[in-house]
Amino acid sequence: MKFKTLDEADLSGKRALVRVDFNVPMADGEVSDDTRLRAAIPTIEKLRQGGARVVLIAHFDRPKGKRVPEMSLAPIAPALAKVLGATVAFADDCVGEPARAAVEALKPGDVVLLENVRYHPGEEANDPEFARALAANGDLYVNDAFSAAHRAHASTEGLAHILPAYAGEQMRLELDALNKALGDPQRPVMGIVGGSKVSSKLDLLRNLVTKLDKLAIGGGMANTFLYAQGHDVGASYCEKEMAETAREIIRLAGQNNCKLFLPLDIVVAEKMAPGAPARVRGLGEVDDDERILDAGPETVERLGRAMANSRTLIWNGPLGVFEIPPFDKGTVEAARLAGNLAKSGKLVAVAGGGDTVAALHHAGCAEDFTFVSTAGGAFLEWMEGKTLPGVAALAQ
Ligand code: ADP
Ligand code: MG
Repeated sequence: MKFKTLDEADLSGKRALVRVDFNVPMADGEVSDDTRLRAAIPTIEKLRQGGARVVLIAHFDRPKGKRVPEMSLAPIAPALAKVLGATVAFADDCVGEPARAAVEALKPGDVVLLENVRYHPGEEANDPEFARALAANGDLYVNDAFSAAHRAHASTEGLAHILPAYAGEQMRLELDALNKALGDPQRPVMGIVGGSKVSSKLDLLRNLVTKLDKLAIGGGMANTFLYAQGHDVGASYCEKEMAETAREIIRLAGQNNCKLFLPLDIVVAEKMAPGAPARVRGLGEVDDDERILDAGPETVERLGRAMANSRTLIWNGPLGVFEIPPFDKGTVEAARLAGNLAKSGKLVAVAGGGDTVAALHHAGCAEDFTFVSTAGGAFLEWMEGKTLPGVAALAQ
């Protein structure tokens, strides 16, 4: 897919309507993690330097088409101003008179944030009339919210059909990284998929085995695969009803020449509790009252070798219950191996997923990865091979 970027836009004096993701964590009315605000800065700065009037639109939480004061974007404006080092005005509504007046007051280089788009039912309904009301305050549309691109809403999709549409800098970064990882990767390309459930990642596994040269399965979902192959999993988390599906994925991998890596050894404990006595076991050595909570050392070592023999890695889902030490060990070691390979330029390593990102930070190696996506749902849908409506609408 090809997109227009801001380098191709005539910005001077124009009103740029920019869809950003400011759905940030808040505590006591204050922004507690400003990662998403910082992610929007390159686009905002580029627009300001080009002499555009910057009109930011965003959603916050799920007000379901009504005004919910607790879900106002008002506290975000001063937080953004701090990160940006410039004044950020705020308009009490994203359409109608308040928006019109606030945008009219902007001089080139000025920035305004409009109130939560989801206060209006037309946003999630992708109502063309609502999209036109939003478009009234822009000469061009910039989508910088990859993380909202799996939704076909007025501000993420509809606007791209009304105004000249551009990919923002963060959107471009994300799409480039994803394309390097799965669209057009350097081969061999390897995947690691972990996490708890096979059932929540079925589409993802089915898509990946057709695209990757190697796929390692870990975490709770590996238990289901082991069970499907006739191994005892004791008291482990396991979706026994998914056994046939697991076998189907193993067959699909074979048909597509995707080498599957299932655990060789595992770490078990009787209790899922911090510091619980952990034992390394071979497959089939799990007692009835034991749970598989992490990948074993041989498994991690083999993953490391497979990564070292790959050019590209895409990772979603931890290899064990990383929130509860010592069951973080497999995930932490594998993450550090991947991080070191990426840092030394031997591997393009891309990771995403809420818990995966938390696990990489826990391992202290998120910075070493080539790219870490904070997009959550959009990242997963993209890994499933789905077309993201917000991205498709930007394509020329
Ligand atoms: P992401 O958010 O990155 O997509 P998931 O939500 O799919 O990842 O999976 C993360 C969860 O999987 C974590 O809470 C982790 O504790 C759990 N998990 C990993 N391994 C196991 C296991 N062996 N048994 C039970 N849960 C596990
Ligand atoms: Mg999760």
